[in-house]
Amino acid sequence: MAYVISDECLNCGACEAECPVGAISAGDSKYVINADECLDCGACASVCPVGAPSQE
Ligand code: SF4
Ligand code: SF4
Repeated sequence: MAYVISDECLNCGACEAECPVGAISAGDSKYVINADECLDCGACASVCPVGAPSQE
């Protein structure tokens, strides 16, 4: 299952650089993950300062 970024996201952008497939991009009020591209590697969750990305 793809990772999803919660509303806790601070818009820091750290996860975008860590994603190996470029599935993360800036959204309107937080960063978002393209579920069709996410490989469930967990790199975004590891780098996020607030633990916003998680599996649904
Ligand atoms: Fe990218 Fe991995 Fe996070 Fe999916 S789990 S969005 S592939 S860094
Ligand atoms: Fe948001 Fe966490 Fe990604 Fe920063 S690393 S943009 S707080 S989800």
